Amino acid sequence: MSTDFLQTPLQFLKGVGPRKAADLKRAGLVTVEDLCYRLPFRYEDRSRMQPIASLRPGAKAAVLGEIKSARLSITRRRGFKIFNAVVSDASGAIRCTWMNQAYLADILHPHLQVVIFGDVKLDSTGLHFLNPEYELVTEDITGVHTGRIVPFYEKTGMVTPNMQRRLVRSALDQLPPAIPDILPADLRARLQLVPRRTALEESHFPSNEASIATLNAFRTPAQRRLIFEEFFLFQIGHAWRRHAAGTELKPFVPKVDDRIRAAAAKILPFKLTPGQRQAIREIVDDMRRPQPMHRLLQGDVGAGKTIVALLAALVAMENGLQVAFMAPTEILAAQHYATIARLLSQSRFRVDLLTGSTPGLHKHTLHAHIERGTTNLIVGTHALVQEGIRFHKLGLVIIDEQHRFGVVQRAALRAKGLRPDVLLMTATPIPRTLALTDYSELDVSKITDMPPGRQPVRTLVKPESRRDEVYQLVRGHLDAGRQAYVVYPLVEESEKIDLKSATEMADHLQHEIFPAYRVALLHGRMKPDAKERIMQAFAAGQIHILVSTTVVEVGVDVPNASIMIVEHAERFGLSQLHQLRGRVGRGPWESVGVLLYQAPWTDEARERLKALATTNDGFAIAERDLELRGPGDFFGTRQSGLPKLRTGDLVRDRDIMEEAHREARQLVADGGLTPELQQFVDERWEQQFGLIEVG
Ligand code: ADP
Ligand code: MG
Repeated sequence: MSTDFLQTPLQFLKGVGPRKAADLKRAGLVTVEDLCYRLPFRYEDRSRMQPIASLRPGAKAAVLGEIKSARLSITRRRGFKIFNAVVSDASGAIRCTWMNQAYLADILHPHLQVVIFGDVKLDSTGLHFLNPEYELVTEDITGVHTGRIVPFYEKTGMVTPNMQRRLVRSALDQLPPAIPDILPADLRARLQLVPRRTALEESHFPSNEASIATLNAFRTPAQRRLIFEEFFLFQIGHAWRRHAAGTELKPFVPKVDDRIRAAAAKILPFKLTPGQRQAIREIVDDMRRPQPMHRLLQGDVGAGKTIVALLAALVAMENGLQVAFMAPTEILAAQHYATIARLLSQSRFRVDLLTGSTPGLHKHTLHAHIERGTTNLIVGTHALVQEGIRFHKLGLVIIDEQHRFGVVQRAALRAKGLRPDVLLMTATPIPRTLALTDYSELDVSKITDMPPGRQPVRTLVKPESRRDEVYQLVRGHLDAGRQAYVVYPLVEESEKIDLKSATEMADHLQHEIFPAYRVALLHGRMKPDAKERIMQAFAAGQIHILVSTTVVEVGVDVPNASIMIVEHAERFGLSQLHQLRGRVGRGPWESVGVLLYQAPWTDEARERLKALATTNDGFAIAERDLELRGPGDFFGTRQSGLPKLRTGDLVRDRDIMEEAHREARQLVADGGLTPELQQFVDERWEQQFGLIEVG
């Protein structure tokens, strides 16, 4: 490989001095490659010159003409500097006005040929261009800033869009005709990808024949090629790691025979849905393989993931292996423990619960049981794996409702020399594109159906002013023997205020609205055992209305609760609201979710609530949420494992990510990794995509 011009530091580019190089570096641009792979965010057609006489106000236009006169004046009011120039062509003349750009007087001299591009305005002073872009015309009319389809770059730091345009032009001019291409030649040929050099040129400075709409959709062959390249390199790293992990072996490999099938059938309290059956089949197939399972089980709230996990646990336990079942909160851990202990009460397996609030002495006893192997299944929070617990024969780890943390936990397990099967479960449907990034190394099972008899939650969107009506609705449910949730958002910045309003609301409901019923408050700052008591009283029907902050968000299962009011629904994200309303509709009764909003609400909030009222499909909601919020906000945290991208966009370019994913897996499976790709994966992959190493 000849020395790669793209790796040249920008300071060696013509026209870049040390000062500018420092500015560029601060904007994250160090090499020619950095510059060339920072694509425009939009394009504008400035190629068609209009006769000046045909200009109309209110539109963008480009004209080519001669500067007839130029004058700098200073307004009296606060010393505004106004530079006026008159430009004329064969058809007529027009004035161009620039505010506070006095230096233009040194550039735009009379008699020069110039291309002007910008907004045509009409006011009392007549038709004119206001603050247009300009470019002096030398012999070649195809300019950089005007007279062509022009790229627009996002401003970063001191690097202005115009500066970047000039730099990119200069870099491309110095780029050798042949540059190395990391994409394998047969892949390029098969997918008809444009050569890298052409792709760079055409992505920045498209020929005037290119369609502006296609350019702005980022779907020209040149743009596609660069986006594909980026996604493919990203996917190659994942495919490789997945492949490498597949060569790892687990210490115990479970077997499944008729005895185990019979044991499983015995604990089943109901008939599994086809979706559940399919999921358990995929999980058990994994468990019987010599490589550790790393599978994500997705299923909407109420789809019945717990029983699927328990069946997997049973397979492990019947093979003499221990199971750790982890939940994100103590409430959920306690609830899982109760369900599981009940289902396994007739079996010979011992189930224990271990959380942060387990008393010290009991904790020590539990540790001993786990270490000796007398505890078969231990339920707890994620502290289970982090704390110094030693297992006798850990075969399966189940992690509920917290997808991301599964990756971290697996790393922690590996660090301890443990390689059990890992099953992650989530009710946050992960949009396909994100599943292809963060979860690219996971296998995914989906439960897309619901247990029989489940009625979809009816969702109402109501303004604050209709609160009385909403209370009537709640009363109807309570009088029929049902229970209700009232949920308050807890936004971190205003935690105190919201907590206060939740507390006041609980008082108000108890004393003024529903004196005949019992109201209780549950919030995140309460002591675990206090929370636990309230949850249990609610589950037992002793509390009728549970006013709560979003701690009920995940997993809580009280089938008798049939109505939920979400206060300040306009503040919640789409997926979060969907999760919340999934707390109702778990029993045979018709259930209602009321989204109360307080005006004024943003268009986006309106969109969100509308989307929610029209569908119950969690996957559709997740896709919509991703579109509305963008991938960065979707998970709410930066540690979501999303790649840092230069050219591609996870939402806009989903289809390309799919293709890249397919191709990368295929190439790795075929053993076709070229030395260049291998080197990239080994040395540059993590850094390029800004991925933190976990595991
Ligand atoms: P999630 O997927 O949200 O974790 P759960 O596992 O908590 O859902 O199940 C929700 C409710 O549905 C539970 O009360 C569970 O007992 C019940 N359930 C699960 N599967 C079935 C089924 N196949 N038939 C009837 N009820 C079921
Ligand atoms: Mg659950």
